[in-house]
Amino acid sequence: MMSIRSLLVVVSMLACASCTKTPVAHSPENDLALLWVKHAAEYEAISIQVYQAAELALPGFINDTSWSAMPAQQHAEGLPPAVILDVDETVVSGIAFQLAFERPFTNRKMYDFYQENVAVPVPGVVEFITAVRQAGVAVFFVTNRPCELIDNDPDPCPQKRAVIKELLDTGIETDDMHVMLSNEQGWDRAKIARRQHIAETHRVIMLFGDDLGDFVPCVRKKLYGPCTQPATAASRRRLVEDHRSYWGRGWYILPGPTHGSWTSFP
Ligand SMILES: [Mg+2]
Repeated sequence: MMSIRSLLVVVSMLACASCTKTPVAHSPENDLALLWVKHAAEYEAISIQVYQAAELALPGFINDTSWSAMPAQQHAEGLPPAVILDVDETVVSGIAFQLAFERPFTNRKMYDFYQENVAVPVPGVVEFITAVRQAGVAVFFVTNRPCELIDNDPDPCPQKRAVIKELLDTGIETDDMHVMLSNEQGWDRAKIARRQHIAETHRVIMLFGDDLGDFVPCVRKKLYGPCTQPATAASRRRLVEDHRSYWGRGWYILPGPTHGSWTSFP
């Protein structure tokens, strides 16, 4: 005979199972994160603040050839300088897509959205990239949009073409050599391998992103790249603390309240 306590446990397990299987009803009208990015002047101010602060720091990082924004990069004095930016919510604003897409998220839905909609830049980024290029610094875009085959398209990575076109929509010209997706060249979702690849030929003077993974590896529960332990909320905070001297000095993080690795650590 099942005790009341056991019965309650079973009932709560069933309730939990249904929780995980049924997507939470999404309503942009009451999603504060989406509303903030869409409507808050404060969001715009933060983005502009980040990019203007970075622009002010740019000459110092160019001139100090001993400087690298990658903690492990050494002997890069003779290499040309470069900055690395994430794409979504760092350069391309995803708010229109986030408000529009039918949950759950898929990469294909995002791809399709930008086939039909013009990409809009995050406030401040276009002016920043213009200044960076005028200063003779290379600009790389490292995104975790994955290369995936699509229908009858013979292109092994139509998403790369799409990202380059979106960047052009925002007013930023770039090319194949300066855009790196996941699944490309065997790269996984740990962006560290792509940052290291860039660091072979460039002195990386600045990193930009809206996710902790744009700066350090091992920020997710899933194991990618060099990670041997799933991340926890505490390990993620430790990563921030361990790299305290970089925030606002070589590393520039933008708000990412609507999605990202943080959402797995409530
Ligand atoms: Mg991003």
